[in-house]
Amino acid sequence: MGVDPALSGAVRRRQYITNAVPALVLSMVLFYSWLFGWLGNAELVFLSLKMTAIPLSGMVWFYWLQRSGRPPHYWKACLICQVTVLAGILGGQGTQIGGHYYFLLFFLTTPLVVPTTDRPGMIVVCSICVSWFCLFELHGWPSSAAVQALWPAAIKLLYLGVLLSGSVVLFIALLAGEYFSETLERRIHQMASTDELTGLANRRVFYQTLAQWQAVGGTAQRPFCVALLDIDHFKNINDTYGHEAGDQVLRRLSVLLRQGVAEGDLVCRIGGEEFGILLADRTLEQASAVCEALRQSIAATPIRAGGSQLQVTVSLGLGQCNEPDFLVGIDRALYAAKHAGRNTVHLHRGSVAEPDQAQV
Ligand code: GH3
Ligand code: MG
Ligand code: MG
Repeated sequence: MGVDPALSGAVRRRQYITNAVPALVLSMVLFYSWLFGWLGNAELVFLSLKMTAIPLSGMVWFYWLQRSGRPPHYWKACLICQVTVLAGILGGQGTQIGGHYYFLLFFLTTPLVVPTTDRPGMIVVCSICVSWFCLFELHGWPSSAAVQALWPAAIKLLYLGVLLSGSVVLFIALLAGEYFSETLERRIHQMASTDELTGLANRRVFYQTLAQWQAVGGTAQRPFCVALLDIDHFKNINDTYGHEAGDQVLRRLSVLLRQGVAEGDLVCRIGGEEFGILLADRTLEQASAVCEALRQSIAATPIRAGGSQLQVTVSLGLGQCNEPDFLVGIDRALYAAKHAGRNTVHLHRGSVAEPDQAQV
């Protein structure tokens, strides 16, 4: 429909609706042509077919606007709706078959089309819709002889058609509004919880999940471990091969990390070249085996970046969630791993950081 995907959800929703309006109006007019034909009233069929010129012109107009890079403004969609209904009433349908009830529908759906920030626009569109409706409801508009010639049952059927089709349009509009809101909410949530470069969960999710796991009772009954991982001499990679190569290393490493942990674990990018890993239902020994395997697989996997095969290593600090300040201890273990020459895993047991005995 020519809607720019980079636009915010609310603006996109409004543009989709605006673009869809002429097609929707056209389908309604065609539906009435068919209904009049079914009732055997050629004059009303001819009037409806003449009315199709309005939404069809709208579709061409909107297409042309899109092509020239100017998305149609909402008031143009409102204009097409109102002019079509007015053409029907003044052109011969009159108010006897209830066509003016569409103005009530337009009033009810105004918040879906007009931006809530455009207060004057909202007031103008709502006032016009209500005014047309009141005017036609109170004073009526004479119908042509073709309508007068219809059976009373046919008139009742047409009245019912207006009410039903209006209700269906309103229902679809509400459904579409709800669908767009949910999509928007999902998008916002994803943006707020994902690291853009690597697609991993971000720092916010790391601390949030950590707090949740602790609240569930992350000690004796359900032990879990936390690892802090930092790429060794990452600055050198940036300096030697360029920032883009550094980004490529971060992306590739993220894949290796994700592949190296179990389903219930969580890998997050918590800083530039630092990652946090939550290892569920593991004792310190089990978790240290996972971290050691990660370290080894990273060291053994050359990463293609900046036109070269880079040998990347990482250092890890690991500890179990069994005391209030365990994260500080794990950070200290990571620092100790760096100090011990990098490419190693250090464990935090209580208040001391020590090298992982499983290391080869
Ligand atoms: P160490 O082994 O002690 O950790 O050394 P290091 O060079 O890895 O650590 P240092 O803290 O000196 O450098 C980290 C570098 O990470 C500096 C920064 O430019 C780079 N960095 C941070 N975020 C990004 C990123 O998103 N992309 C790229 N390419 N580089 C990043
Ligand atoms: Mg660092
Ligand atoms: Mg580093």
